Amino acid sequence: ANQILSGYGTTIFTVMSALAQEHGAVNLGQGFPDWEGPEEVRRIAAEGLMNGYNQYPPMAGIPELRRAVAAHDRRFYGMDVDPMREVIITSGATEALAASLLGLLNPGDEVVLIEPLYDSYLPIVQLAGAVPRLVRVEPPLWDLPRAALAAAFGPKTRMLVMNSPMNPTGKVFSDDDLAFIADLVKAHDAIAVCDEVHEHLVFDGRRHTPLMTLPGMRERTVRIGSAGKTFSLTGWKVGYLVADAPIAAALGRAHQFLTFTTPPNLQQAVAHGLSMDRSYFDDLAAGLAAKRDLLSDGLRRVGFDVLKADGTYFIGADIRPLVGEMDDAEFSRRLTIEAGVTCLPFSAFYQAGDIRNFVRFCFCKRESVLEEAVGRLERFF
Ligand code: PMP
Ligand code: GLN
Repeated sequence: ANQILSGYGTTIFTVMSALAQEHGAVNLGQGFPDWEGPEEVRRIAAEGLMNGYNQYPPMAGIPELRRAVAAHDRRFYGMDVDPMREVIITSGATEALAASLLGLLNPGDEVVLIEPLYDSYLPIVQLAGAVPRLVRVEPPLWDLPRAALAAAFGPKTRMLVMNSPMNPTGKVFSDDDLAFIADLVKAHDAIAVCDEVHEHLVFDGRRHTPLMTLPGMRERTVRIGSAGKTFSLTGWKVGYLVADAPIAAALGRAHQFLTFTTPPNLQQAVAHGLSMDRSYFDDLAAGLAAKRDLLSDGLRRVGFDVLKADGTYFIGADIRPLVGEMDDAEFSRRLTIEAGVTCLPFSAFYQAGDIRNFVRFCFCKRESVLEEAVGRLERFF
């Protein structure tokens, strides 16, 4: 077996969803909505299947979807994107990330990453033979540690990978943070790979700002999005990336050997989704913000120290007020088995296992399900 991957167990999402199922727990672990995405989007996918849209689409994605991505980025961010040279459709953001890292990195290159981080980043950095330089945002505010970040950059830095809105903290980096990050990336002539899958899951009147829109960043940023989160269709695995043409060409060389392409009917449906009225996107965020409030209030009543989520599907919660010093993975297992509610340990989002007192709860569930989870927790604690 591959030596790098042998060091990793099964991903936490799979482990905890299986445990939830085994014990009949309310699964607030793995992040997926328990409602269907927009009917008009699903209908186009269904009709595409039946009307014979079933053979290999173009390697970089169907033109209709690439144009829709460019139009979306113009509408929401004022960007000017060439759909044919600067957009690639991928099999989820996961593949876009892999294509970005494998397409750009050489052995020995250094990559700056911010912990807690999504679980696919580190293994791919390592498979590329690159060297991770990890920096942490720290509770309770998860502020960007500016001095540590600056110190992590050096002459070998090739890339920064960042995620805002951030999984699992729910943090949205401020414009000031973005400007600070952009200056570092430019000063070191590096490339920023921005995982923006939660771009439309931002609450309380905030707006997502892509790092790519900051001065001087257009030609050194890869912007990654996903239909999974934007349309509540996580199983579709339709992602996209936007990058300046020379970078996109390098990523295309990786993409062609990773998956080559993505189901055409799903691409066609997502193209429609991206062009829906503003109200769709506003309603998505407003609906999720209400769910966040419901679950946050409930978890607070139960006794957790709850972090404020400005975006994503996720709330972080400190377990110490309830159980003192208990290992977060052990807590998550016991909560699943004994209380019938599943969460995820934050330690799964760190390379070193020393952060052990936070868990992540997912709130993209129907109200009745969130209420059931809180009810179970109230009875347990
Ligand atoms: N990055 C982050 C931060 C995520 O939370 C997720 C899960 N949606 C992904 C990447 C993977 O996205 P996809 O399912 O489109 O591959
Ligand atoms: N992105 C989802 C989460 O953070 C899960 C993705 C997966 O299951 N691989 O929960």
